[in-house]
Amino acid sequence: MIPRPADDLADDLAPAVAAVRRRIADAARLAGRSPSDIVLIGITKTHPPELAQRAVDAGVTDLGENRVQELLAKRPLVEGARWHLVGPLQRNKVRDVVGRHVLVHSLDRGSLAEALSRRAEREGVVQRVLVQVNVGDDPAKSGCDVDETAELVAYARGLPNLAVEGLMTIPPMPPDGADANVVGRPHFATLREQRDQLRERFPEVVHLSMGMSADLEAAVAEGATMVRLGTALFGPRGRGPWRKDA
Ligand SMILES: *Cc1c(COP(=O)(O)O)cnc(C)c1O
Repeated sequence: MIPRPADDLADDLAPAVAAVRRRIADAARLAGRSPSDIVLIGITKTHPPELAQRAVDAGVTDLGENRVQELLAKRPLVEGARWHLVGPLQRNKVRDVVGRHVLVHSLDRGSLAEALSRRAEREGVVQRVLVQVNVGDDPAKSGCDVDETAELVAYARGLPNLAVEGLMTIPPMPPDGADANVVGRPHFATLREQRDQLRERFPEVVHLSMGMSADLEAAVAEGATMVRLGTALFGPRGRGPWRKDA
């Protein structure tokens, strides 16, 4: 009998999930933290919904996508997941996201905050967001500047239908051959300092979404409460976004 591809994926996923959980637990223990304070988000971009479902079945119930359309196409085909949008959000996609229980990790400007809150008001919901900060001042990355963070958080949380629950960052790409944990750590520390300062004024600003496959140890050491893992769980990504009927 020729195995269906989905069966191969099921065989593959359990060890990868266990290995990643072990990495998180080891890093947490070193930092004197509890692994249960760290949410593992499986980043399923480019992968089919069958694989996303296997992740949920293996206990990875938080899933993230970096494109709105891919998230919306995949979501109805996966049961039991909580969804996160970790990529840039354009204003014309706001209506596709609000009211669908998606945590938006990529709020990076006041005009987007306003659009999200206005839409949420119309839908009668509160939209949960994280403010994305470009900690490395990297022209290739989105996010507000570090020194604009407090202002953007204060503005966004003052809008009637937005809840700012924390901060998110993607550090600059490490140079070839460099250890991503070493390169990433000072950037993660910067995000934590921002969060600590903000939390004194705004106690609801708790989350730190930081750490990917290559640098989760440094992120957990610096206090990550959400890590976003793609390749460590699912292997290399496909060529482009997954599409229904592609
Ligand atoms: C793709 C992606 C990830 C996952 O990256 P890996 O290195 O594969 O773990 C995490 N965060 C964001 C914002 C992404 O776009």
